[in-house]
Amino acid sequence: MILLPITYYLLPITYYLLPITYYLLPITYYPIIPMKKTYALSLSLLILLSCQSTSFPDEESWIDLTHSLDQHTIYWPTEPGTFHLDPVYEGETEGGYYYSAYKFCMPEHGGTHMDAPVHFAEGNKSVDQIEIKQLIGEGIVVDLSDKAHNNPDYLISEKDLEEWFKKEKVNPTGKIILFYTGHESKWSDRADYLGTPLKGEEAVPNLHFPGLSEKGALWLVNVGAKAVGLDTPSIDYGQSKDFMAHRVLFAANIPAFENLTNLKKIADQKVYVIALPSKIGGGSGAPLRVIATPI
Ligand SMILES: [Zn+2]
Repeated sequence: MILLPITYYLLPITYYLLPITYYLLPITYYPIIPMKKTYALSLSLLILLSCQSTSFPDEESWIDLTHSLDQHTIYWPTEPGTFHLDPVYEGETEGGYYYSAYKFCMPEHGGTHMDAPVHFAEGNKSVDQIEIKQLIGEGIVVDLSDKAHNNPDYLISEKDLEEWFKKEKVNPTGKIILFYTGHESKWSDRADYLGTPLKGEEAVPNLHFPGLSEKGALWLVNVGAKAVGLDTPSIDYGQSKDFMAHRVLFAANIPAFENLTNLKKIADQKVYVIALPSKIGGGSGAPLRVIATPI
């Protein structure tokens, strides 16, 4: 077992050294190593190389955790706008070919999107300042749906996290941690998803959906989580007044992914995650295309 990681790192080196080995060995070691042995060595290196499996996951295995942006996209009730897609041109041109182009307009925080740390932490990273290495890599989908699905005020606690990671024997350090609360199933009904049909400031006290507690957020910071996401409108629960999960995570420059979907398909699984937001310069948030595949 110890040899496996060594082999993993040595193989790429072998790959680059092989041509050199092939040409140099007969010259350098000819008097010492007979030609037959030289080619045997090269051949065995080739066989070793051919045993190296491709590391990129099967393209068919990737799951889209993203809601489409359209007229049904759910925004925070105090957002003045929603998603608009207006045609600039659509139809036959004078040149006799079809052409279409549109312009879109939307607030940063709606649909499947990323919150950048500067959203709640002055001077911390904006969307464009977050490095790619923080947005891709190994992740975990923590299934808390048995507790959260029928409780729209559920707060994911420190205890939930400690218990889950202990039970599953998973190390959270350096991982992208996604929470499946079951709330994603309510997306098609805005009132059910937000907890209220209201819009504007009067909607805010009536928001009901699960989220992460302050202590839960602190736990994630302390274990060194890379990014955090969930299938609800906000990383803080609907009834939050102080948005402590946002504030704690963003103070540590940990971005959050909100309004994810299809987490049910990979609940309780280790995954690879690719979460790439539109690179909005200075943005506090951005629409996010996020995909995952089981490891
Ligand atoms: Zn947001």
